Amino acid sequence: MSHKPRKRFGQNFLHDNNVIQRIVNNINPKTGDHIIEIGPGEGALTELVLDKIGAMDVVELDRDLIPLLKIKFVTQDGLSIHQADALKFDFCALQKADKKLRIIGNLPYNISTPLLFHLFEHNDCIEDMHFMLQKEVVDRIVAHPGDSAYGRLGVMLQYYCKAEYVFTVKPGAFRPPPKVDSAIVRLIPHDKPPVDIKDFDAFSKLVNYAFTQRRKTLRNILKGQLDVEQIEKLNIEPTIRPERLSLADFTKIANAINQNG
Ligand code: SAH
Repeated sequence: MSHKPRKRFGQNFLHDNNVIQRIVNNINPKTGDHIIEIGPGEGALTELVLDKIGAMDVVELDRDLIPLLKIKFVTQDGLSIHQADALKFDFCALQKADKKLRIIGNLPYNISTPLLFHLFEHNDCIEDMHFMLQKEVVDRIVAHPGDSAYGRLGVMLQYYCKAEYVFTVKPGAFRPPPKVDSAIVRLIPHDKPPVDIKDFDAFSKLVNYAFTQRRKTLRNILKGQLDVEQIEKLNIEPTIRPERLSLADFTKIANAINQNG
């Protein structure tokens, strides 16, 4: 069985059995888990997960891979294949009897950030997520204030999930090898948001704007919205740069602007 990997679908297939086994060990599928894999490709991860728990869903965009998957798993009637775009897929619709979903995937790197934000909209029905991403993206996901990789993604992610760096994967584990290192990340959605944001849209725009001005001080970034006195009242130093602001700080600032307006 062979399929020529397509660049436009971000296809880098895992072929290193040790790495595949290590990923599945970290996911730790248990009987009764409802696992959904995004982008099964030729089924490298699917095979081990199905062996363990006998049933799962997969969401694959590339039509040409569907017949390959059907043949490979012809004896496994617990596999449900959905030919669909994960960016538009309604994950919660697959939920059965309130059992939360576990989402996994070696994600197509070209769509990984929008896909994460699409999944966050389904946070309520998700127990956890394990993804392979570019290492650089995982570094940004797990970054804390003051880290060089800290930015919009780190702030927004903390609002939705607890994130954990699991391990690094070298290009040689894939066919074809990508140009950069990859890493596995574990994301666990919060039961309830860790902060109380009054206007989420405004908060999100503030975070975005702040990091496009990351060399500026906070007082300059907030000019016309909050003055130095108002910033100090929030117990935040007006001369620091956005890379030092925590999720709680951004929340305080956004809520103060909201109150002002
Ligand atoms: N899990 C496999 C393949 C990873 S490559 C392995 O590890 O070997 C990424 C996979 O995501 C490919 O199969 C690609 O076709 C699929 N894909 C790309 N864009 C997608 C999308 N929008 N929705 C669902 N699957 C997608």
